[in-house]
Amino acid sequence: MSLFAKLTTPNNKTIEQPLGLFINNEWVKTDTTIDSIDPATGKTIASVYAAGEKEVNLAVQAAVDAFEDESWSGLTGSQRGDYLYKIYEIIKRDVELIASLESWDNGKPYEEECLAGDIVEAYEVFKYYAGFADKIHGQYIGAEVLGKDKMCFTDPVPLGAVASIIPWNFPFMMMAWKLGPALATGNTVVLKSSEITPLSAIYFGKVILEAGLPKGVVNIVSGYGKDAGATLASHPDINKVAFTGSTATGQRIMEAAAKSNLKNVTLECGGKSPFIVFADSDLKKAVEWGYSGIFYNKGEVCTSTSRFYVEESIYDKFVEEFVKFTEENAKVAGPFEKGCTIGPLVSSLQYEKVKKYVEIGQKEGAKLLTGKFHDGPGYFASPFVFGDCTDDMTISREEIFGPVVAIAKFKTTAEVIKRANNTTYGLAAALFSNNITKAHKVASKLQAGMVFINSNGDSDIHVPFGGVKMSGIGRELGTYALELYTTHKAVHVNLGLDYEPAVHFLDFS
Ligand code: NAD
Repeated sequence: MSLFAKLTTPNNKTIEQPLGLFINNEWVKTDTTIDSIDPATGKTIASVYAAGEKEVNLAVQAAVDAFEDESWSGLTGSQRGDYLYKIYEIIKRDVELIASLESWDNGKPYEEECLAGDIVEAYEVFKYYAGFADKIHGQYIGAEVLGKDKMCFTDPVPLGAVASIIPWNFPFMMMAWKLGPALATGNTVVLKSSEITPLSAIYFGKVILEAGLPKGVVNIVSGYGKDAGATLASHPDINKVAFTGSTATGQRIMEAAAKSNLKNVTLECGGKSPFIVFADSDLKKAVEWGYSGIFYNKGEVCTSTSRFYVEESIYDKFVEEFVKFTEENAKVAGPFEKGCTIGPLVSSLQYEKVKKYVEIGQKEGAKLLTGKFHDGPGYFASPFVFGDCTDDMTISREEIFGPVVAIAKFKTTAEVIKRANNTTYGLAAALFSNNITKAHKVASKLQAGMVFINSNGDSDIHVPFGGVKMSGIGRELGTYALELYTTHKAVHVNLGLDYEPAVHFLDFS
């Protein structure tokens, strides 16, 4: 198999698609391959080379060497910013091409999501962090704090070679979220894409080459989690793993990090986020935001609000309007079809998983109000709305990661807060109310990394993103991400040269 394939996307874009691993600015073949499947047809788009332990070790060595090399470590922040800005410009120029590839590989609507959302957000992330690269500096703590003849300064230094492990639901965007702050702060990276959607990540190797980054600064490997991913997470020369994926994998990564070298971890894991609709809400808006909150990207969103709690007095009206809105707005189609809002689920595995949950929902007594699976080819499903749900039902408790919502009713504010928090997850929560005081009070009580008042899931690259409880550790995006890719070295200086005990006891007697 060669290192490149000439691909023509369903919307007729021609791509010279790399298939190899991207290590040390070179394309690398391996002994094994992964088939990347078009979820709209079930056919193989391309086979890519998959990394095993040997290739991951090579990639890590390249990142370690690059971190030491003057061509990267000797750059000023402003020069690193120039590289990030160049990446921004290239992605922006090629937005249609990359959006086409992403849409094809994942099944997400080309126009509505990839072109208008994911890839634009990806280049905006690089621009945002390009601007930060020369604004990372430390503190001076002087004699007025430390005592006569003493001073200290802190130096925010990069962590070294870091790993990024990303999922399949927003492949290119997740890559940008991780690479932007990692590179702005001067780290080098080995990124492992998801075995389900490897294409846009390796395509990014071409962007790195064109932007002219020194070799080994960014290395990209396709590969399976259990070998390539696990090798990265447990590698003693990797100083941080930034991971997005399921909670179960996050736990494994944290364990590997602890056992190998106590490496830093940032985990963005699963969720079962609640959406609370109070009787005093703008009902039409609540329906619209509720719809996007669960059905955007086919429900394959970590922050998707898959449990709705609707106040009893408006429950019937809300459910009626919500089902109507869903049926009118869910245009299930191939991702390149005009007007498509819901593409195929990402894989046959995901399709079967959603099927299983829909069956369990019905078996456990939830009322199926709308939704159906489509016959193949492809893994298409119209969104499923379940009413009359109770909190003990499986579909109300477990993360499905598909277009399935469980709607329940509630009576009091105290009750709904308790029920919303009754989960091991804590990624996002959303609520609708026109009573601003109540809205803020409830928001302050919800156990979630992100709360949306009178909207749902509209996170923003300028704002920290992440969860509490078993939804994760640490934050991505905003200025918080920069903190998590640096460590602060404290340099103490004694200008007096005389010996002084470090601790001064005050005599209050
Ligand atoms: P996953 O955990 O199966 O895989 C995620 C990544 O981890 C993939 O690249 C995979 O190859 C790798 N991996 C798997 N096993 C590994 C191991 N033992 N060691 C190292 N790496 C390993 O998740 P997925 O199925 O790709 O994505 C869906 C999940 O991701 C959902 O649970 C969803 O909630 C979560 N998610 C969370 C966020 C967030 O920001 N919190 C965003 C997107 C997705």
